[in-house]
Amino acid sequence: FRTIRQADPEMADALQKELGRQRDHLELIASENFVSPAVMAAAGSHLTNKYAEGYPGKRYYGGCEFVDIAEDLARDRAKELFGAEHANVQPHSGAQANMAVYFAMLRPGDTIMGMNLAHGGHLTHGSPVNMSGSYFNIVPYGVREEDGRIDYEELERLAKENKPKLILAGASAYPRTIDFERFRKIADEVGALFMVDMAHIAGLVAAGEHPNPVPYADFVTTTTHKTLRGPRGGLILCKAEYAKAIDKAIFPGTQGGPLMHIIAAKGVCFKEALGEGFKAYQHQIVLNAAALAKGLNAKGINLVSGGTDNHLLLVDLRAQELTGKLVEKLLGQANITVNKNAIPFDPQKPFVTSGIRLGTPALTTRGMKEPEMEKIAGFIARVILEGECCIDEVRAQVLELCRSFPLYEGDTID
Ligand code: PLP
Repeated sequence: FRTIRQADPEMADALQKELGRQRDHLELIASENFVSPAVMAAAGSHLTNKYAEGYPGKRYYGGCEFVDIAEDLARDRAKELFGAEHANVQPHSGAQANMAVYFAMLRPGDTIMGMNLAHGGHLTHGSPVNMSGSYFNIVPYGVREEDGRIDYEELERLAKENKPKLILAGASAYPRTIDFERFRKIADEVGALFMVDMAHIAGLVAAGEHPNPVPYADFVTTTTHKTLRGPRGGLILCKAEYAKAIDKAIFPGTQGGPLMHIIAAKGVCFKEALGEGFKAYQHQIVLNAAALAKGLNAKGINLVSGGTDNHLLLVDLRAQELTGKLVEKLLGQANITVNKNAIPFDPQKPFVTSGIRLGTPALTTRGMKEPEMEKIAGFIARVILEGECCIDEVRAQVLELCRSFPLYEGDTID
């Protein structure tokens, strides 16, 4: 069999339909993006065939001379991109990257301070349903109810009271700039290690659109598939003194063979991020988020913290007495893809929520700019304010907009 369609027509159909969905929907999920054809090609390359346990020059398998080149390229570029002393490009995902740092530096029962999941943190930062929350003693910190911003004074007080072994900054749904310098000072005051999970903002950091945590943090983890626009995967950056411990914690600590095709794709992504056009792309992501926020505010839609400094916004639906669950569904019917998301101090359950999260990385990759954001703010506001009756009309306008910004032109699953 030479093609997917020949080998597995049912699977080819699913893939073709997903490509169609990506083309015909407005992708506003803040953690998603569209990779370049070069990243896609590396991810679908022959490197998927190769076992390469270990690290370049020190493998447990033969025949690694060429995958060593790929991993060295990826590591060197990651270090250059973020100004880091050491990079480990093997984590299969963001969650794996975080687990490896914990495994390297902590023992079960140690105290971690991480951002409350209900205030925008991530599951792996200490949620009771995640390994992080069941193996460690978690002291969550959060945002102020009045302005939706991290309460650094409360964070400092909690740190002094609880003496954590590690303080973790980073979030999945926080629309404002994070003050890493302030975090570092608090960590130093209490003798804690300082870790940053920059998964959402890594692309912004690489382009100077958000302060870089690397000079402040002992460990920086990230995914490579969000604003950074690489393949699905993780990355750990750290000071040279922790390099050995981190590498050991990934392999053999928490993973087996690395995904060499994905590492090659990460390398391509890092080269793209170092190259021309990436800074302008990230700047446009931020301009687009601001334009979307402005458009929604103008229609009377509330946003947590009143707006955004980065690539995402959190819509607060309490004034309309709607749930995130319902609005996600209605927008989906209008071909606008978003996710329901708890807002800080949410009265609704986590599967229902009072919010939706919107992000601009994917639409910016499609080439959309402020005028399109203004239109999209109008579509979203209409669905929120008018409900089901406007869906058909909005969907027709969405389709027209999508077709003016072609995606993966000429690609087909054959
Ligand atoms: N860290 C943060 C801040 C995230 O937002 C996410 C994913 O949404 C992750 C880690 C986990 O990444 P992955 O889904 O690759 O495990």
